[in-house]
Order: sequence, then structure tokens, then C-alpha cells
Amino acid sequence: MSVGDPGFPIPVPDQDTRPFWDGCRRGELLIQRCGACGKWLWQPRPICSSCQTPDPTWTQVSGDGAIASWTVLRPPTLPAFAAMVPFVVLLVTLDEGVRLLGYLVDDAGRVLTTDGGAEGVRTGRRVRLRFHDQAGTILPCWTLAD
Ligand SMILES: [Zn+2]
Repeated sequence: MSVGDPGFPIPVPDQDTRPFWDGCRRGELLIQRCGACGKWLWQPRPICSSCQTPDPTWTQVSGDGAIASWTVLRPPTLPAFAAMVPFVVLLVTLDEGVRLLGYLVDDAGRVLTTDGGAEGVRTGRRVRLRFHDQAGTILPCWTLAD
């Protein structure tokens, strides 16, 4: 991680993660899947964590899933996030079984200024994938599906 303009912590793609970030820029969520045992892998890695087979296959997924957990970010925050609070960060279990973190957003990918109460955020609610442009980095995020 490094700090980019305007101060958001911005991920720096490396050889293991570049396909993921390139996919996000195209509006595609790519998750690795082992070609030998079929296990879905998160976070990106050069070998399967289950059977140690190298070169898992980057596979596009729908991003559909359910809220496994969530939290509300409130002040104090890093200065870059100060204008966004309060906002919700979701831990989403994709239908493939892997878990990713992302903002709660509206249908257009804008981060919602909310504590989640009005939207009825709760564990188990279905979510749909969206993407959010944060200072030029395209992040997967989710909107409530129902
Ligand atoms: Zn495997």
C-alpha cells in the first residue's frame, strides 16, 4: 500500500494481484480458481493454498453474494475519508465461497453516507457487485440486492 492523491491508501498491483486490478478496470470481478482441485482462492496467490498446484486460473465471477459481516466507519478517520463518514464496509461472502471487503454503495457505485440503519443492512442480506472509482483505483463494492 502507498498513499496516493488525495490521501486514500491505494493498492499497488504486483505480479500476483495485477490481473485482479486490471479486471476491476474493465468492470469484471476476477477470482482465482485452482485448475487441479477446483478451490476458489482469495487473496491472490501464485499457488493453490489447498493442493499447492501452481498458476490458479483467473475466473470472472458475478460478484453476487451475501453480507457475512459489516461495520460502520465513523470519525476519526484518515483525512481522505473524513467527508465520507459515516459509511459502511461490508464483508461479503461471494456465491463461490470467498470473502471480500468493500463499501456499501448505491446502484451507480457511489459510497453511501449512512450507518446502514435506513437501508436495513444485516448479516445474510443479498448484495450485487458494483465498482467505485476511488482516486483512480477501481474498487469492487456492493449494493443491496433486495
Ligand atoms: Zn488446488
